Amino acid sequence: MPHIAVLGAGITGVTTAFHLHQRGFDVTVYDRQRYPAMETSFANGGQLSASNAEVWTTLGTVLKGLKWMLQAEAPLLVNPRPSWHKVSWMAQFLGNIPNYRRNTIKSARLAIAARPFLSEMADRAGVDFDLEKRGILHVYREVGALHHARKVTGLLAEAGLHRQELTGDEVRARDAALTGPFVGGFWTESDMTGDIHKFTVGVARWLERQGVVLRLGHEITDLRRGGDQVHVNDQAFDGIVVCAGVASRWMARALGDHVNIYPVKGYSITVNLNDQTSQGAAPWVSLLDDEAKIVTSRLGPDRLRIAGTAEFNGENRDIRADRIAPLVRWSETMFPDVSTQDVTPWAGLRPMMPSMMPKVGRGRHPQVFYNTGHGHLGWTLSGATADMIGHVVAGAYRPTAQPVTMGTSRPA
Ligand SMILES: Cc1cc2nc3c(=O)[nH]c(=O)nc-3n(C[C@H](O)[C@H](O)[C@H](O)COP(=O)(O)OP(=O)(O)OC[C@H]3O[C@@H](n4cnc5c(N)ncnc54)[C@H](O)[C@@H]3O)c2cc1C
Repeated sequence: MPHIAVLGAGITGVTTAFHLHQRGFDVTVYDRQRYPAMETSFANGGQLSASNAEVWTTLGTVLKGLKWMLQAEAPLLVNPRPSWHKVSWMAQFLGNIPNYRRNTIKSARLAIAARPFLSEMADRAGVDFDLEKRGILHVYREVGALHHARKVTGLLAEAGLHRQELTGDEVRARDAALTGPFVGGFWTESDMTGDIHKFTVGVARWLERQGVVLRLGHEITDLRRGGDQVHVNDQAFDGIVVCAGVASRWMARALGDHVNIYPVKGYSITVNLNDQTSQGAAPWVSLLDDEAKIVTSRLGPDRLRIAGTAEFNGENRDIRADRIAPLVRWSETMFPDVSTQDVTPWAGLRPMMPSMMPKVGRGRHPQVFYNTGHGHLGWTLSGATADMIGHVVAGAYRPTAQPVTMGTSRPA
């Protein structure tokens, strides 16, 4: 069978490896870390959220972003020092404003299509990842923001996603932990949450038991094309799939492709709910506070994940205390009886394309493929894009590939 190397053992790499293995390929997964899911797929917001499929490429977001740049604790932070990468990425981001509507609908369709694939992978691999099927609740304190959300609801409906508008009282009635001054909200019953790290590690270890080779602790420093093969460091493969998060950009360049991923940093805290009062006062329903741009997920009885912030500051992984503090304060304001004595901070880099749509498909070289650039929705979309790239790779090696054996829906 053709031997395919998957570059990266985050959520996109591991789900890609799963789909390639399902189709009968010999698969080797590389990662520079000693364990899977140690970078962006480590401690994200946890939301499997078709309801968050709206892309950010609108004039309204740009204007809000400019205003936020002047506020110390705003959800967006841009290092004003210019770099060619940042400037060119932002120019392409603005160029994508006309595609807002199309890309939002496309992204929501992908998110819906991803659900059965993710479930099937978890079932097949027998992975417990603190999945909660309790829906996602978008909450609003301002009527203006609620008005915009109504328009988004229309776009999501075009993609086949139903979400229900709620009054402020109905928002508070959704979960006993919610007491804030909300003017309304939107409830997406079909959305879910789960621990991306547990899922990715569980599936990776299962794949290893099925014969997939995990080359962990192996930094890729050299990628070369030659004849019908691609060389990863010193080993030759029949094909490669680049799933390397923010590193996909330099890898693409080395392979003669342009994949303009910018690292958009985000932060999370995991509030460890060590006592019964905290466990009772933390929400089970997953929240998206649209004005603060903060999401929450309950990861089992004793963990509440809270995530947010978009920081444009290059490939910088520092966990800044002044960006963590607003997340802790938000928790204390929203859920005053939840103890914040034991909080684990984290920062990760969203691999973001200027269109906010992942790069899934072939590169210039016939043996090079990409499944990367999932930005703020990698957990949500990965089930669908892994199937898509599995399909493309199988098409390229058609004479020997096995028929697809899983998945029930494919995005239009
Ligand atoms: C704060 C925050 C909150 C988020 N919340 C959500 C959410 O609620 N829902 C959602 O859907 N998405 C969310 N996301 C986005 C999601 O987490 C990402 O899109 C996803 O994890 C990206 O996965 P990946 O596989 O592309 O990248 P990664 O997980 O970073 O994987 C890439 C892998 O490539 C490896 N690698 C890189 N370079 C090399 C090299 N030279 N040699 C070998 N290996 C290499 C890395 O070690 C890494 O393991 C959030 C992101 C952040 C930062």
